Amino acid sequence: MITIGLDLGGTNVTAIAHDGAKVLASTKHRTPTTGGRSDVLDLLARAVDETMDAAGLKRKHVAAVGVGSPGIVTDGTVGNASNVPGFQSRFALDEEVAARTGLPVRVANDVTAAAVGEHRLGSGRGEDDLLAVFVGTGVGGGLILGGRPFEGGTGGAGEFGHLVVRQGGAVCPCGRRGCVEAYAGRRAMVLAAERAVAGGRASILFEVMREKGKPRPTSGVFRDTLQRGDALLTELLEDAVATLAAGIATAVNLLDLGRVVVGGGLADKLGAPFVARIEAAAQRSLFLQPPRARIVPAALGDHGGAIGAALVARDD
Ligand SMILES: [Zn+2]
Repeated sequence: MITIGLDLGGTNVTAIAHDGAKVLASTKHRTPTTGGRSDVLDLLARAVDETMDAAGLKRKHVAAVGVGSPGIVTDGTVGNASNVPGFQSRFALDEEVAARTGLPVRVANDVTAAAVGEHRLGSGRGEDDLLAVFVGTGVGGGLILGGRPFEGGTGGAGEFGHLVVRQGGAVCPCGRRGCVEAYAGRRAMVLAAERAVAGGRASILFEVMREKGKPRPTSGVFRDTLQRGDALLTELLEDAVATLAAGIATAVNLLDLGRVVVGGGLADKLGAPFVARIEAAAQRSLFLQPPRARIVPAALGDHGGAIGAALVARDD
């Protein structure tokens, strides 16, 4: 059975054709930042067509389409996705994509889809109680419990980035205080670096950004700045490691998880040593001893969300 998986991000739409074991072809498009909902939906349909073409597939070969979408997903509808035009108010994303592609459509939260990918084909294989944490611009989380994605009563479960790890702490991009993302999300770390530099601290972060010709400090800029020994960013990263470890230990203590998979743009760029530091820091806060939970790097990289969406589409 072949399915198409779409990963709708704030920046890119990644689409893949998948046979249940491997990626047959993939395409990538820029997510529209202007216009409305129909521009995004038209792009999703075009991405399906182009991915079928790239894999040499006709519509009759494709069983279904899976969409991983940001926001709160319930029963094929999505809402509260502030990064995608027209996706704030709730609507039936499954019906809209089905009407445009003529294929059955299944929708999941994007991070939950990525967690499904890691569970079935990545570093989560063989473990049915796991948390997948994605550290990038923000910090996302997806839960697999008893071998199945767990999205909660209204689709809002797994918001790992908004676990409160410091009472009255730094302001998070969500507007609340002390969340994991307020310390470990790249956007929050850049804001903290800007404030420190404005206050007179030295840092080469923004110099490295300009050298690399980037409009903002990307995960690659973070990696290069850390490799050059920047003291400010090193401190911010230590704080990120500590808060990720506190959040992960909290989740493991609550749910008796067997594994935590850590991926996302920043974690992928910093690699296994970053994840090993998180694991070492988390061990001290784990209640069950000796701990059974392992904290490991994600395996599927950039395509993880689209692979997960393709796998979710097979489930119907
Ligand atoms: Zn928050």
